Amino acid sequence: MGLEEYRARRDFGATPEPEAEQMETGQSRFVVQKHQARRLHYDFRLEMQGVLRSWALPKGPPTSHGVRRLAVHVEDHPVSYIDFSGTIPEGQYGAGTVQIWDHGKYVLEREEPDLLEFTLRGKRLSGAYVLVHTDGDSWLLMKRKQERS
Ligand code: MN
Repeated sequence: MGLEEYRARRDFGATPEPEAEQMETGQSRFVVQKHQARRLHYDFRLEMQGVLRSWALPKGPPTSHGVRRLAVHVEDHPVSYIDFSGTIPEGQYGAGTVQIWDHGKYVLEREEPDLLEFTLRGKRLSGAYVLVHTDGDSWLLMKRKQERS
């Protein structure tokens, strides 16, 4: 955890992405960014402990129960990335366009090293979700059947 990898991959003289420090806001927000890079994918990020824990979803997030979507764990991003949209220039890491696809708050219900359960309250995504670590950088994102009360 931490932003060293985020910084190491980027040239902040060339990319419009934020160069930010860890920042505790006391909020629990999430964002899904549609990232038209060499391959289209969606980046799912949860604000936790002063950073955005991040996963790349090659096929996007599931919107119904019973659908498992691969979520590839990627480097933590700075909290200020939650508002980022724009164009990352050719030749830079992640070159392409980034659009905010959904955002909102979430409630964390369970946190283990290989498991996160949470409820999303966004515009496109809402309800109970789980992220399960399977192997290496691979996780699965699924919508849970019922919201917890
Ligand atoms: Mn991405």
